[in-house]
Amino acid sequence: MVFRRPTADGAIAHGRIDYRLARAAVIADVRQGLVDRSEACDAHPELVRAAAQVGVITSGTCPICESPSLVHVTYVFGPRLPRHGRCVTLRGELARLAKRPGTHVAYVVEVCRKCSWNHLSHRLDLGKAEIA
Ligand SMILES: [Zn+2]
Repeated sequence: MVFRRPTADGAIAHGRIDYRLARAAVIADVRQGLVDRSEACDAHPELVRAAAQVGVITSGTCPICESPSLVHVTYVFGPRLPRHGRCVTLRGELARLAKRPGTHVAYVVEVCRKCSWNHLSHRLDLGKAEIA
């Protein structure tokens, strides 16, 4: 299922799936005590390392610890890339990967550098989505 969202100029962006509702549900469960904080803040050590070294700082704060240490880490999957995906480390790398032949998909993960909160933010079908 592909969701379409209006952009600032009213156009429809294709190829982007947002996981905002799933994120809100997890946050609500943590706040209500239905999910233990340690389960929500369980970023894999490799993800924590990527967040520290190549994470892109977001304007938001962590929904769990309210730290401004929230970053996005992007992994791309597609032909001729490692099975575990390629962590985007360079500016412009996403746009370069989008130009490659074949289907490439980017997963953007929200990670807190302080408490290790992590959640899938959105998915982009490269070649179809608007890449910022
Ligand atoms: Zn946090």
